[in-house]
Amino acid sequence: MSVHHYFCGLALPDFLVRMEAFHGYRSPGILLGGCMLDAALDKLAATPYLNVVTETVVCLPDAVQLLTPCTIGNGFLQILDWGKFALTAYDRKTLQGIRVCLDHSRLSAFPLVHQWFDRAARTGPKPEFDAVSGEILTAAGELIVCREVTVLKALKETQAIQTGFCPDCGESYARRLGSLCPACAGQAYCAVR
Ligand SMILES: [Zn+2]
Repeated sequence: MSVHHYFCGLALPDFLVRMEAFHGYRSPGILLGGCMLDAALDKLAATPYLNVVTETVVCLPDAVQLLTPCTIGNGFLQILDWGKFALTAYDRKTLQGIRVCLDHSRLSAFPLVHQWFDRAARTGPKPEFDAVSGEILTAAGELIVCREVTVLKALKETQAIQTGFCPDCGESYARRLGSLCPACAGQAYCAVR
């Protein structure tokens, strides 16, 4: 694996160290996500108003948080649970962006990436990072598809969220969710012991 790869200005060895620290282990998905983000930001006019949307909850959100100032907590990263390995980097003032996805028709040219990405193509265990990472870096240029897009509306909540107290539990919650908080309305994910 060449060390002369850069990901949004971060050299590959540094990217790998930060990936392990942040994500817990080296992840092929974050490596490929880094390639996708790098491709997007290369084409997007430089902006202090960067936002990113990922179309999957796995891997890509961590690549965004490692390589850009956009995080879940600051609201500049939005995550759609669509199961699509794609992302859009855009300027939240102009709404002009670059959407990046993969050309699945070319996956079969890269057998390890194909087996890693596509469960149906797998004959053995999922390839490990060290096996697939070199091929990811080789394949990225051919697999990654960038398109200029206009984001239909900025996705960060700019209005202050209206909150109120739930009549059942007394805790403050977002009013738009209804007259009871989600937990009291039947969506509780935990129970007091
Ligand atoms: Zn409640």
